[in-house]
Amino acid sequence: MVIEKREQLKNAIAQMIAHDGPVVVNARVTKDENCYPMVGPGKSNAQMVGLVKQPPQAVQEPIYCSNCGAKNLPTNNFCPECGTKL
Ligand SMILES: [Zn+2]
Repeated sequence: MVIEKREQLKNAIAQMIAHDGPVVVNARVTKDENCYPMVGPGKSNAQMVGLVKQPPQAVQEPIYCSNCGAKNLPTNNFCPECGTKL
C-alpha cells in the first residue's frame, strides 16, 4: 500500500485494520521530515519521543456477582461464572 498524501491516511489506516493479514505500507513523507513518535538510537520504547500524552483513565471498580460472588469487569453485562445479569 502506498500513501502519498495526508488526505489518504485515514482511509488507508481503515483498510489496514480491515485487512486479514499483514500489510506493507509505503507512507511517503517530506524529505528530511521526522516521523513521530520515534525511538531514538540507543533508547528504549519507554523513551519514545513525540508520543501524545493520554490523560489517565479513571479506575473502574469491579462488579461482584450477587449470585456467586465472582469478580467481574465493569464492562460485563453477565457473570461469566454463573450467567447472572449484573
Ligand atoms: Zn456469578
